Amino acid sequence: MANSFDVIVVGSGFGGAVTACRLAQAGRKVLVLERGREWTPDSYPRGPDDAWIWDDDEPERQNGWIDLRYFGDMTVVQGAAVGGGSLIYANVSVEAEPFVFETGWPAAINYKALKPHYETAGKMLGVEKTPDNQLTERFKLMREGAQKTGHGDRFRKLPLAVTFNKDFQGDGPDPHNEANSKSWTNEHGVTQGTCIHCGYCDIGCRVQAKNTLDLNYLAAARNAGAEVRANHIVRSLETIDSGGYRVRFERIEDGRLIPDSVTADQVVLAAGSLGSTELLLRCRDIYRTLPGISNKLGYGWSSNGDFLTPAIYWDRRISPTVGPTITCAIDFLDGSKNGNRFFVEDGGFPDVLGGTVEEVSRKLSGGGIIGKLFARIAKSARNRDPLDAIMPWFGQSIDASDGRLYLGKDWWNPFGSKKIKLDWDIRDSEAVINAMVDMHKELSAATGGTPVEPLYWRWMRDLITPHPLGGCAMSDDPATGVVDGNGRVYGYDGLYVADGAVFPKAIGLNPSRTIAALAEHIAQGMIHGTQGVET
Ligand SMILES: Cc1cc2nc3c(=O)[nH]c(=O)nc-3n(C[C@H](O)[C@H](O)[C@H](O)COP(=O)(O)OP(=O)(O)OC[C@H]3O[C@@H](n4cnc5c(N)ncnc54)[C@H](O)[C@@H]3O)c2cc1C
Ligand code: SF4
Repeated sequence: MANSFDVIVVGSGFGGAVTACRLAQAGRKVLVLERGREWTPDSYPRGPDDAWIWDDDEPERQNGWIDLRYFGDMTVVQGAAVGGGSLIYANVSVEAEPFVFETGWPAAINYKALKPHYETAGKMLGVEKTPDNQLTERFKLMREGAQKTGHGDRFRKLPLAVTFNKDFQGDGPDPHNEANSKSWTNEHGVTQGTCIHCGYCDIGCRVQAKNTLDLNYLAAARNAGAEVRANHIVRSLETIDSGGYRVRFERIEDGRLIPDSVTADQVVLAAGSLGSTELLLRCRDIYRTLPGISNKLGYGWSSNGDFLTPAIYWDRRISPTVGPTITCAIDFLDGSKNGNRFFVEDGGFPDVLGGTVEEVSRKLSGGGIIGKLFARIAKSARNRDPLDAIMPWFGQSIDASDGRLYLGKDWWNPFGSKKIKLDWDIRDSEAVINAMVDMHKELSAATGGTPVEPLYWRWMRDLITPHPLGGCAMSDDPATGVVDGNGRVYGYDGLYVADGAVFPKAIGLNPSRTIAALAEHIAQGMIHGTQGVET
């Protein structure tokens, strides 16, 4: 295996997949180092004994695809996989609103400059909206709620990175059976299927109707010669005398961690908000290999104001486990609610129990009577879904974006090593979250539901987010940020950050399309130089 490259990309989520693809297509010799596994529909976790969880304390033993970080009053959920968060995300691929970029971002980053990149990313991700003949019960409830509360004009379908079959029959016999997915081959030569509304988006789409990054951007990167190494955890980087960087990693192999290193002229960090920030913090403060990184590293972190309020509908079937996880929104980002800017969405969830039974029946298929029995149980569990009465009102908001990531020890383990920690204070974000919760309650009441404000919020003001943003903020001034408007790390030629870490503040709606558009912009800057990049 080669150990010297033009560009090393760390991480293969939205930032990493896009930069790897564009740089490889521009003729660069690209290596992608990804800590997670390369998953296929057959290896996706389904049963209780499968590899669900990534444990950063012992990744050689637990290297599943969900990485949960508990920081006390904030819990972060993120992906660990070739394809990053795309394997377990809810497919919403929506552009940020133009006003978002008017303050706090570098001058080069504005909606007009990003628009062509949004369009390119949308095409690569095969974005489309749910066809009218496939609207879910949640969608209809959201639309009704918007109309009854006088906000019908704010309601809209969301663009999704999902391939639909216009002829799908949702009310046919056994509609969610995989046999109902239509096979097709995408422009990168990868075989995919069409959506069967099984509701498993957040636990992996077995029919590959989700247009995940491994099927498009990473496939195109590989077609252009990029090498992708799964199970490689990058630990540090350092400058080398001849120019460029040495990247040190540990490879997970047979339950052990094997150290090694590679070099490149340029390095793109795309390990996500937490991952890229942690790597730079370690290199600046522990290994002291990159001592000149801005002292703003870690600052300005945001949870993107995510919140979920479940509501119970005693006499109405909501079927939250049916259909793509999120399909529509009611947009309050204009600040018309006392200046609070938020975006309400329907948040479905997978029928994990039904999925487990289905998995057992799959493993037993061909196993005669027992296999058939499990298949019947799975089908009847789906038909009598006990969660049918729940509407998960979901949403994001523009929070205060005043968190700080830093390295610290666990208080109960003063002799242990330092880990990434989060300093988070809800006070300046509380008003906008409350405004969103109030709207969730109003929508529930207008449609006959009983909202249940989560106790972790009501009593402790704790939050959970799948949208960590920031830590290596973009800025025109090294005194206020870590990278410039082209993703270049201040003080280190050839070192870039191109993922959710570069957001200087929340955008108040799902961020993956904006991360992809920014990565397209950063890659163009790397290929053509900064001249010629739209300003
Ligand atoms: C359940 C869920 C649902 C979501 N739904 C949506 C949605 O519908 N729409 C939307 O826009 N967003 C959604 N998101 C958020 C979205 O997934 C993230 O915003 C996006 O993936 C972030 O992209 P990224 O490139 O910054 O990082 P990621 O996609 O997280 O990629 C970072 C990659 O780097 C790897 N990595 C980390 N550290 C290292 C290291 N040291 N060495 C090597 N590799 C490393 C990780 O394993 C990961 O693969 C969802 C997230 C979750 C968890
Ligand atoms: S609903 Fe099912 S088939 Fe459709 S995208 Fe989600 S996981 Fe795939």
